[in-house]
Amino acid sequence: MEQNTICVQGGYTPGNGEPRQIPIIQSTTFKYDTSEDMGKLFDLEAEGYFYTRLQNPTNDYVAAKIAQLEGGTAAMLTSSGQAANFFALFNICGAGDHIVSSTSIYGGTYNLISVTMKRMGIDVTFVDPDASEEELMAAFQPNTKAMFGETIANPALTVLDIEKFARVAHANGVPLIVDNTFATPINCRPFAWGADIVTHSTTKYMDGHGAGVGGAIVDSGNFDWMKYADKYPGLCTPDESYHGVTYVERFGNGGAFITKCTTQLMRDLGSIQSPQNAFILNLGLESLHVRMAKHCENGQAVAEFLENHPKVAYVNYCGLPGDKYHALAEKYLPNGSCGVVSFGLVGGRDAASTFMKHLKIAAIETHVADARTCCLNPASSTHRQMNDEQLKEAGVPAELIRISCGIEDKRDLIADLAQALEAI
Ligand SMILES: *Cc1c(COP(=O)(O)O)cnc(C)c1O
Repeated sequence: MEQNTICVQGGYTPGNGEPRQIPIIQSTTFKYDTSEDMGKLFDLEAEGYFYTRLQNPTNDYVAAKIAQLEGGTAAMLTSSGQAANFFALFNICGAGDHIVSSTSIYGGTYNLISVTMKRMGIDVTFVDPDASEEELMAAFQPNTKAMFGETIANPALTVLDIEKFARVAHANGVPLIVDNTFATPINCRPFAWGADIVTHSTTKYMDGHGAGVGGAIVDSGNFDWMKYADKYPGLCTPDESYHGVTYVERFGNGGAFITKCTTQLMRDLGSIQSPQNAFILNLGLESLHVRMAKHCENGQAVAEFLENHPKVAYVNYCGLPGDKYHALAEKYLPNGSCGVVSFGLVGGRDAASTFMKHLKIAAIETHVADARTCCLNPASSTHRQMNDEQLKEAGVPAELIRISCGIEDKRDLIADLAQALEAI
């Protein structure tokens, strides 16, 4: 099936007389006739459900759709994007291990890796995503277990050279994990460029309606864990906490990563997505291909309008021919990138404050990737405790505005921006 069809019909095929829409199995537990029947599930000898913290049919239908969209072999849902990135990394890293990550990533993920995972004994080296292969190679250590980056970084809007990162990761015998939240599999499928694991905050475009927080992890099935068995004992040696199963032997390269992540991490850390939220996420996925095209059309139109406006100092959007990431976008995102555009106002903090006050359609929110346009000036909201010098160092200068273009009519969005710019 093509992507457009998978969005609508993937993951769930009803049988004769069964519900057309994915049923919400809002049940914590599943009933069995004999203890032996249930025992087979616990031994991973039979497929089936027993407790929703581990698996639930609604979640599995939606995860299967996301796996199809990404071209992966297996997927799982998590309660949030934060949980997805943590689980994807922690599934193969432990105390004494090391991660190489792009610096250009979501702030929440940066904190997760640099503060919380560090407290767990997992070290990190951050690298400039635009660094040369030689510079990237130098960041690796014998205990490095994963490399991490974002297809289109939130909020910096840098575009990751996925092939370059994959080459370097594989030369060091580790998988590349790519957070594909902003591009979505409609605009980029990182597995086609060598990524091994993909993560998502489904809270963003996949849900797309600001209705449910969620995450997903997808495995390409391509990484040869056994080749580096001494590096990944969790996948390649018996798991004493789960009946001595060796995940790669039992489930192969296509199933080992997600099965371990479910039976171990979800069992112990319990960050499940509720079946109700999975159902809402699926409603979003059904129109993802239609919405992404509109988000990109509006993002492009708004970026072009801003670029030509005298009160705008600069615009970051990889769809603009003059953008630093335009060439990478042409390669990895030929059909468009996303609806998020950032720009700087001539006139700094005061101009930004006036501009924000006059917006009528674009709502002031920390959120992005919603059907409704939203806008943020970090200096006057999320980062207001910082002075101009600190803001510049943090990469969010006082004059910076981030706008996430929704799927409204672009003429209304441009008119709204024009009148707010006029007010400065
Ligand atoms: C929002 C976001 C996250 C975190 O996801 P939540 O669903 O908010 O936990 C991770 N990565 C990226 C790129 C994001 O935009």
